[in-house]
Amino acid sequence: MDKVTKNRVVVVGGGASGLMAAIAAAENGAKVTILEHQDRVGRKILMTGNGRCNLTNMSDVRGKYYSSDSDSLDRIYDTLVRFDAGKTRDFFKRLGLYTKEKRDGGVYPVSEQAAIVLDVLQSACFRLGVCIRTNCEITAVRPVRSGGGTVSVAQYICVEQEQKKQNRDKSRRIAKKEEIRYDQLILATGGKAAPVSGSDGSGYELAKRLGHSIIEPLPALVQLRCEGFFFKALSGVRAQGRVWLLIDGQETASEEGELQLTDYGISGIPVFQMSRLASRAIYDGRRCEAGINFISYIAQANSGVFDETIDNHMKTFSYKTVEEFLSGLVHKKVAAVVCRRNGIASGKTVGQTKAAKIADCIRMLADFRVKITAPNSFENAQVCCGGVPLDEVDENFMSRRYSGIYIVGELLDCDGICGGYNLQWAWATGAIAGTDAALRTVP
Ligand SMILES: Cc1cc2nc3c(=O)[nH]c(=O)nc-3n(C[C@H](O)[C@H](O)[C@H](O)COP(=O)(O)OP(=O)(O)OC[C@H]3O[C@@H](n4cnc5c(N)ncnc54)[C@H](O)[C@@H]3O)c2cc1C
Repeated sequence: MDKVTKNRVVVVGGGASGLMAAIAAAENGAKVTILEHQDRVGRKILMTGNGRCNLTNMSDVRGKYYSSDSDSLDRIYDTLVRFDAGKTRDFFKRLGLYTKEKRDGGVYPVSEQAAIVLDVLQSACFRLGVCIRTNCEITAVRPVRSGGGTVSVAQYICVEQEQKKQNRDKSRRIAKKEEIRYDQLILATGGKAAPVSGSDGSGYELAKRLGHSIIEPLPALVQLRCEGFFFKALSGVRAQGRVWLLIDGQETASEEGELQLTDYGISGIPVFQMSRLASRAIYDGRRCEAGINFISYIAQANSGVFDETIDNHMKTFSYKTVEEFLSGLVHKKVAAVVCRRNGIASGKTVGQTKAAKIADCIRMLADFRVKITAPNSFENAQVCCGGVPLDEVDENFMSRRYSGIYIVGELLDCDGICGGYNLQWAWATGAIAGTDAALRTVP
């Protein structure tokens, strides 16, 4: 492409979606600048998958994402086909990074190092001449109705004071202000989750100032805080089981897997998967509870097999204390709490206790109810639910308010379950928007 005709694409935010958008735009001939307000790009990528980066998932994406607008989400599923998990793997392979698929469809770099994912993205930016500017605060965006516009930027530069001379260990930040012109602007600032990585929610303000509405962002893929004095005693327990979410008494979601109990509530992948529903329900003032089945491996409670197994077990072990007896079924700490909640003293044996009382304990192991009071904070959340409504962007993630402004990644009101779907969302939205931005005819 002729140098003069190159689209000037400015990307605000150098996270997963921003880096992908920048590379896609540059590969399609645009002159690209990334404006990042932290001192480096891609900080959150380094945190993903416990440092291993579950970068996508090969399973069907339908049903793996949530949004407050399910109609628009259906439309978006058709869009996501244009940059699916296979394309993500091909993209990284093209950058020299081989990936491997695990049994659940989750895809990781072969080395299982998140750092290498960031390295190849940065090196592609360098090769394609993408200008990465860090420590940049965006103070205003001024779109022009006919297309394009300017971004006001304050770039902070650390200036070493004459500390050596003055024997002071201080530096000061000064801001260099400038206006940057763009033909297309891509907002890729992320949401509010894990703000230490740079996603501090400032992107919502930028979108709002451009006339977009914001669905209240809430923590998702996060631990849930629960009521109950016994949680202190349960802290540290890991148990395989089923957990289900009740909103105003109605079962709304159910997950099976490894649960973790903490001194304030419940955690683990099954809890993370349903946490966004709990977050939204609590925000809406609805009653939220979780039910836990610690003995789902036996059978469903109240089924014939279940009753028979427990009956036989009680007859065989009538000499054991109830706590010991229950400890054969679940973690000792859970057994102790269940005995306490049913008023059974620690020395009491199965033989000395009414069968109905023991049946109550067993029922509680199969349906341990807790009241959910709140999600944990954004600091602990992996993603946000909420953001810019999906119906405010088109099929290329371009704003319906301003032509030439795109909104991608977590800033949009769409969040995925655990398993690589959130990064896939970032890659897909970034790639589609970046390509469209580069190829769009400038008026
Ligand atoms: C601990 C943790 C583990 C995770 N693990 C996984 C995983 O294994 N698999 C998976 O699929 N997902 C995972 N996620 C979720 C995934 O990381 C995010 O969904 C994804 O990174 C979002 O990409 P993004 O580009 O939209 O936003 P971000 O990655 O948050 O990037 C936004 C960027 O914009 C910058 N920025 C923000 N505001 C401004 C501003 N005003 N001006 C300039 N720059 C700005 C930020 O500093 C940041 O660099 C995890 C998240 C966390 C916190």
